[in-house]
Amino acid sequence: MGRGGGCLLCVGADEFSVHLFMLCLFASMVWERVAEWGGVSIFGPNGLREVKEITKEEVGNNKLKMTVCAIVMATCWYIWLAQNDRIFNGILVVVRNVVDKVKVQVFAWLKSRAKLVDLVWHKWCNFSFVNFPL
Ligand SMILES: [Zn+2]
Repeated sequence: MGRGGGCLLCVGADEFSVHLFMLCLFASMVWERVAEWGGVSIFGPNGLREVKEITKEEVGNNKLKMTVCAIVMATCWYIWLAQNDRIFNGILVVVRNVVDKVKVQVFAWLKSRAKLVDLVWHKWCNFSFVNFPL
């Protein structure tokens, strides 16, 4: 959402929501790191197939579905905040910091909202979509 029309995160194509959350080089790197953390090769709004396959097999596992949803929402949210930081504060956010914020935020959500009381930080850091529950 650069004032000149281009994306300020990757200095790439014109900014609009499809670019910001899916096509942006910065966003792609964030999704790639989130996927890597979750033990899958593809993740994010433009590549949820692998995660969908995993969740399809886990029909009754609402906690896994809630976790996937929370990760997608938090990732979009922190990509959006990175864009705002760039525009309004002149701060260039690092991909790893975005992924770390996603991990912390979703951990807090799951502990408080999904009632995953047994969830502990070191297990969460080694989270895997394949080996859920944690
Ligand atoms: Zn971009």
